[in-house]
Amino acid sequence: MFLMEVKLHEFEKVYGDANKAAEARRQYLEKATGARLENIGKTVIDLNTVVGRNIENVIGAVQIPVGVAGPLLVRGDYADGYFYVPLATTEGALVASVNRGAKLVTESGGARVKVLRDGMARAPLFRLPSLTDAVEFVDWVTQHFEELKKVAESTTRFGKLREVQPFVVGNYVWLRLVFSTGDAMGMNMVTIASDAVARYIHENFPKARLVALSGNMCVDKKANAVNFILGRGKTVVAEALVKRELLEKMGTSPEDVHNVNVRKNLVGSALAHSYGFNAHFANIVAAIFIATGQDAAQVVESSMGITSTEAREEGLYIAVYLPSLEVGTVGGGTGLPTQREALELLGVAGPGDPPGRNALKFAEIVAATVLAGELNLLVALARNELASAHQRLGRGAR
Ligand code: NAP
Repeated sequence: MFLMEVKLHEFEKVYGDANKAAEARRQYLEKATGARLENIGKTVIDLNTVVGRNIENVIGAVQIPVGVAGPLLVRGDYADGYFYVPLATTEGALVASVNRGAKLVTESGGARVKVLRDGMARAPLFRLPSLTDAVEFVDWVTQHFEELKKVAESTTRFGKLREVQPFVVGNYVWLRLVFSTGDAMGMNMVTIASDAVARYIHENFPKARLVALSGNMCVDKKANAVNFILGRGKTVVAEALVKRELLEKMGTSPEDVHNVNVRKNLVGSALAHSYGFNAHFANIVAAIFIATGQDAAQVVESSMGITSTEAREEGLYIAVYLPSLEVGTVGGGTGLPTQREALELLGVAGPGDPPGRNALKFAEIVAATVLAGELNLLVALARNELASAHQRLGRGAR
């Protein structure tokens, strides 16, 4: 290692151009570490468009293969038609798995989807002198909701404060501020709006001292129960009735698949005290998030959920419940060139008309795709073909 006069993060200032700064950083790192960085520098991204918005100390980009699953027939309130869903992954067999599930769902009449709730939360934490003051503060917040809403909404054209959910522990109060956020996932938007609310509280209820703008009751990027119960982002349900004959043609039955779901996803998950009463929501959520420029760390709570099944005479009823799906079609990484194309493939790139429509449509497509992936894995387990599929598709064999 050698010491530099200019710090790595100051290269943009020196070069006046993020692409040149990244190249200089790579050269420095190559000399300092002996690593070869010839591929990280090859990208379609003009790094000037991401510095100050998406990344610091940038040296280039990594590439991840993208496949498509589909056509998937979605019958939602916003997404209605056939979709080819982009999945970015390095897990062999994943795209094939979702693709086969999509075929089953589509041939059975498609996935019906509903968004039940829509609200991004940020929960600032306040300290009061006593419990009595804490309760008085909660009353004050309830009585001044309209003022707090006005203050919050002065920071954004699209964010709307819908609800304040208070939680009191001793002399501490968490205010879980829930916003609708248009087509944005909304984390920056609601954090800025919550900051304005906290400042207003500081001036108008000075006994409440802000401890942290995020008090972890939000909950962002951590497995948790509160989002599971109250929702965060979009709360979405997708369902399908998979035809009996299709399952029987594959050597299984609605009864067998239902049994796997109950024993594995419900009993097994209960035994493990898992937050995921499902087979692999995270696989599908992560692959779509990466392909479309979502915040990948939010896969933690976005992939919580339950798979519910019934064996019926006509076939297998299957539904997936995703209480905390945090997605957007503007903001974050959604504007990057390849991620934007992936959103365009679904017809949801950029702002919707009216605002919020694209994000709702996108949430419905994600839930329908999760349904397809879940269905296929349960079928694969019922047929005991999980290991062989991964051996065939995940080990380079053709
Ligand atoms: P953002 O890119 O910060 O903000 C979205 C922007 O899009 C806003 O300026 C908004 O306008 C504008 N916009 C234009 N058309 C819109 C429409 N139709 N609907 C909604 N907004 C529209 O994105 P964000 O979703 O709020 O935040 C996402 C980013 O936050 C990601 O990069 C994520 O990694 C990061 N993040 C931040 C935190 C945090 O604590 N701050 C935590 C986790 C993740 P207005 O300015 O009028 O609102």
